[in-house]
Order: sequence, then C-alpha cells, then structure tokens
Amino acid sequence: MTPAELKALVRTIPDFPKAGIQFRDITTLIGHGPGFAATIEWLAREISGAEAIAGMEARGFIFGAAVAARLELPFIPIRKPGKLPCRVIGVDYELEYGVDRLEMDPQSIAQGQAVAIVDDLLATGGTAAAATELLRNAGGLVTRAAFVIDLPELGGREKLAERSVDVSALMN
Ligand code: AMP
Repeated sequence: MTPAELKALVRTIPDFPKAGIQFRDITTLIGHGPGFAATIEWLAREISGAEAIAGMEARGFIFGAAVAARLELPFIPIRKPGKLPCRVIGVDYELEYGVDRLEMDPQSIAQGQAVAIVDDLLATGGTAAAATELLRNAGGLVTRAAFVIDLPELGGREKLAERSVDVSALMN
C-alpha cells in the first residue's frame, strides 16, 4: 500500500480530547489488516540496524511491539508512572499544562545497546525527548525514532534533532 493509501486509513476527529485539537485516530489504520501490516513493514525498514525497540504507553506499544516482533528484537515498554512492578528509573517532562512522567526497567537495556524509539505520532516531541533521556540514562544509544504520523508545525523533529535523534515519519 502507498503512504497516501495508508494516510487515508487514519481518521481525524475534531475537538478531541478538547476543543481545537484535531485528533489523529490510528484505530482505523490498525483495524485494517493490510494497512497495519504495511505500516509495520515501513517502520521496520526505517529503524533497521537497531538492537532493541522502545515504545511509549499506550499507542507506542501497538506499533513498537509489532515492529520488534517483526525484526525479532527485544521490545522495551516505556510506561506511565506506577505500572511496572520492578525497580524503575523515571523522568519528568513538561506538558502544555503541567508535567508528566515516564518510567522503565533499567535492566531492560544492555549498556551501549542501540535502541530505536517507535510511537504513533510526533507532535511537540516532548514525549519522545523524555523517552530518549530515559533510555540514555539506562545506558542505551538512541539515534533514531520512527513515527506513523508527524505534525511538522509543532516542531518535534527539530526538538529531537537537537538531541541527535533522527526522525522518520510515514505521513504528515
Ligand atoms: P508530543 O509529546 O507533543 O510529541 O505528543 C506526542 C503524544 O501525544 C503521542 O504519543 C500521541 O499519541 C499524542 N498526541 C499528540 N497530539 C495528537 C493528535 N493531534 N492526535 C493524536 N494523538 C496526539
């Protein structure tokens, strides 16, 4: 399937979760078998060379875990606070309003392992930048991130470039 055909499978819902947000809903993309498979193939090609894949809760799990299985690589879940039962490391990061936190198991990465980040959507890049910091704190080498959707006007690609992370995105 072409990127344009895959883009047509993403549904846009206006004013969700609040007024003024054009929510890009990937439910319809993953609900289309060939579309989901083609998306995973594309992401897997973009992050070739990685030794592990990290994905952020929750939609990053859908794409990241599928890419990891496709490439027979380990999958590292980056979780919201309080979800992991083991000792965790965490990082706090700024949202538009307030702060949020990501956590991971520091033992899920080998020192110097090349880890690629996969998520559904890149907006301001705050989430992916926090994930990069967390993975690096655990000893990972993070130089690549692949997204299904990039909203280029929000500057996420530039924010990650400042952190030496190259971004690929299947669609805008
Ligand atoms: P950011 O940290 O600003 O790059 O935001 C990225 C996260 O917020 C992604 O994991 C998305 O799941 C979610 N997100 C942000 N904006 C949208 C949007 N317009 N539609 C759907 N999800 C979004």
